[in-house]
Amino acid sequence: MSYFQPSELPRCLDSINLTKLWNMGKRGIILDLDNTITPWRTEEITEEADRFIKSALDLGFSLCLLSNATRSRAKKIADLYQIPFLAPALKPWPLSFKRALKILQLPCAQVVVVGDQIFTDILGGNLVKCYTILVPPLLNKEFIGTRFMRFLERKVMGRNL
Ligand SMILES: [Mg+2]
Repeated sequence: MSYFQPSELPRCLDSINLTKLWNMGKRGIILDLDNTITPWRTEEITEEADRFIKSALDLGFSLCLLSNATRSRAKKIADLYQIPFLAPALKPWPLSFKRALKILQLPCAQVVVVGDQIFTDILGGNLVKCYTILVPPLLNKEFIGTRFMRFLERKVMGRNL
């Protein structure tokens, strides 16, 4: 399996079947911030993301925010739901994912990584052998580095994206 290949490619966060994941034995979710639950560099969570996080918590999942954003931004969002966070992380550096697994106190086999970027979320999640879910970015204004990564992502994924 390619390290760039997500386990799932849903249309949006709402399309993620949390009950199915629970029945597969998953108990924790490592969640990205920018463009996954908030539009880039904003502090507002989308309604869909709010629903997703609340449903996951209701089902009994443990969540950990893992973001390359600043500590203060990640903390604000994490505090809203009283979930732990790790930021700034150096995704895809596997050690940051391992630290998140430690916070969740779960083995990789029970943890799902949800994020919008192949080269950070999916690659890092795959390197530590988590189940990885790539969601489309909430986007809009992204900085040039991210736009370049999107270009590379399309190259790597070919017609899958
Ligand atoms: Mg992101």
